[in-house]
Amino acid sequence: MRLLQSSPRLLEMAYLSARAALKPARRWLRSGGIVARALVVGERLTKGPIFDCRMCGQCILHQTGMTCPMTCPKEMRNGPCGGVRLDGGCEIRPEMTCVWLEAWERSRRMERFGGEILRLQPPVDRRLKDTSAWVNEMTGRTGEPGGWNG
Ligand code: SF4
Repeated sequence: MRLLQSSPRLLEMAYLSARAALKPARRWLRSGGIVARALVVGERLTKGPIFDCRMCGQCILHQTGMTCPMTCPKEMRNGPCGGVRLDGGCEIRPEMTCVWLEAWERSRRMERFGGEILRLQPPVDRRLKDTSAWVNEMTGRTGEPGGWNG
C-alpha cells in the first residue's frame, strides 16, 4: 500500500473525488457522532496503510506532497529541521529519508495542490488527536481555509 505514495498525482485525484463525494454529507456531521466515529475507523483503515497516518485529526496530506508530516520524528509541519543529513537522511533516524525531502519531491508531481507545500501551517491542535480529520475539515474544526468549500 505504501507504494501508492509514489503516485501523488493519483492520490491527489482520489482526494478530490473523496472530497466531492463527502461534501453533500456535511450537514449531518458532528464531531463525536456516529458518522464521525465510523469515519475514524475508515481513516485508520485507509490512511494508515497508505500514509502511515498517526491520526492527528488535522490532515494536510494534500499540502505536503501526500506525505504525512507526523511521520517525521520531530513532527515538523512546516518543512525540515536543520538536521537533514547530506545524503537526505533524517537526523534522528539516519536510515530513514527525511519526510520533507520526500514531501517536496512528491509535491512537484501534483498538478492541483503541489504549490500548497509553501503554505505556512498553524501549530498542531493536540485536542483533535484520534478524531476524524475528514469530519474536522468538513465542519471547520481545523480552521482549514478552502478545503471542502473549494
Ligand atoms: S496529517 Fe494527520 S490525519 Fe493526515 S495522514 Fe498525517 S497523521 Fe493522518
